[in-house]
Amino acid sequence: MDTRKRAERRLVSGIGVSGGCAAGRLFFLRSEEKAEDAPEKSAPTSSEEEWERLSVALEKVKTELAVLAERTQTSVGEEEAGIFRIHGMLLEDDDLLDALREELFRKGKSAEGAIEAGVDRFSAILGALDDPYLAARTADLADLAAQVKRALRGISSAEGAVLPYPCLLVAEDLSPSETILLDRSSLLGLITFRGTPSSHTAILARAMGIPALVNVGSLDPLYDGETALLDATAETLLLAPTEEEELAFLERVERERRIAREHEAYLRTLGERPALTQSGRRVLIYANIGDGSETENALAKGAEGIGLLRSEFLYLGLRELPSEETLFHAYADVVLRMGDRRTVIRTLDAGADKQLPYLGLAEEENPALGMRAIRICLARREIFKTQLRAILRASALGRLAVMLPMIVSPKEVEASRALLSECMEELRAEGKAFDRELEFGIMIETPAAALRARELAEQVDFFSVGTNDLLQYTLAADRQNPLLAQLCEENAEPVLRLIGEAADAIHATGGWIGVCGEMAADLRLTQRLVSLGVDELSVAPPYLPSLRRRVTECE
Ligand code: PEP
Ligand code: MG
Repeated sequence: MDTRKRAERRLVSGIGVSGGCAAGRLFFLRSEEKAEDAPEKSAPTSSEEEWERLSVALEKVKTELAVLAERTQTSVGEEEAGIFRIHGMLLEDDDLLDALREELFRKGKSAEGAIEAGVDRFSAILGALDDPYLAARTADLADLAAQVKRALRGISSAEGAVLPYPCLLVAEDLSPSETILLDRSSLLGLITFRGTPSSHTAILARAMGIPALVNVGSLDPLYDGETALLDATAETLLLAPTEEEELAFLERVERERRIAREHEAYLRTLGERPALTQSGRRVLIYANIGDGSETENALAKGAEGIGLLRSEFLYLGLRELPSEETLFHAYADVVLRMGDRRTVIRTLDAGADKQLPYLGLAEEENPALGMRAIRICLARREIFKTQLRAILRASALGRLAVMLPMIVSPKEVEASRALLSECMEELRAEGKAFDRELEFGIMIETPAAALRARELAEQVDFFSVGTNDLLQYTLAADRQNPLLAQLCEENAEPVLRLIGEAADAIHATGGWIGVCGEMAADLRLTQRLVSLGVDELSVAPPYLPSLRRRVTECE
């Protein structure tokens, strides 16, 4: 083995954000260092050789796009899959290929230079056609050029999200949209250099049931392709294990899986019976999900409802705003699968760490304190109305509730209600069905909302506490910053007090209160939350059985 590898620490630690073990080959995604550190390839000189390199890269990107289209079709819809199909077709366009040949053979450019210049020329032609649709394709072309350039450097693009083999994926960091685009069937585990337990990427990994270790510092790209052993529960990664280490690990994993299966079988005997505390109080056990594909797992693990559908995940996987039809189909999918169980759709929570570039929002100094969630929706009413109309239409098919994120003031609730009424009026005029009694709730994610719970309770039917944000805004501690993880861990108390006060105010007006942030899954806090009067706890599906059991043990 390479001496550099032997020299590096072999046991790496990080923060385990989604438990479990996995053994497999590492795959470094978008590792810029790797490309720069890699020894220079003997530079091909002839135009023929450059054409060969470019052709291979174009084919690679086309394959990535085809795979992505296929997966998008299954998980989102035909319309969105079309975006990737069009990208694939653009790469086959004769005019573009002619431009590339000219740059290579006549001007003697390298493959990288040719794709850049060729795409620029092709974009200029499209831009000059005075057709808004084709003009919009120039942005797609710029992205495609970047993807081809990455392929030329041997780097798989997160856009394509094609994992070449079942792997432990290594990345400096992953945005939620990159995570959602990953090919789950080839993803054995996730390792990031940065990241925190309450980041959305960690939340997604948990929802996907994928072992994940974040904040490992960095890994030498020479380990790309090598075997490693990930134990996210013990929060370690063992690089380049010996045969004995690998064998012992696999035996232990198998043993633990068998115990977990037996445990699950026992938990299943608890079934879906209402979770009652020892004193006979009912606590609803709900699931947090990102899309319809997760409902099956949630139901299998005993979810009595969906307490949080993070609706922005659908937007994050796209390159442009979804249409009302797309949203309607996505929501209808969840509602129909949930039958008569309640599904709470949280309206678009974009901004902060969940940026949607196609919204074209101005850059901000402090995005977590800036235009996010309900603030964007009330500033861009057409986006909000499209979503509200889709939610209303899906509400005709089952038991839906709508919930607003990041509320700080009664005015925001009033303005949102007014838009909802406007949408109801429109649908009525169009003869489209919807639930006139749609439950309307808000999240408590800011100290302001907790302190104003009594006033706000006059306006809404229910509340759900987003402890991830409530903790960040109460402690003034960035949820993305690993240096503050310990501070957050040790200071749940002020947040618990806010929850207790809000619960009293809400119960006084006959409303109900749930908790859907990560604190709901912390079994050390279950008794306290139950004692504070929380009516519902909503967690990622893997945590449902143990939470159900913990509730039944509470006083
Ligand atoms: C929260 O803030 O606790 C929450 C549930 O919302 P998100 O994690 O999506 O910000
Ligand atoms: Mg939140």
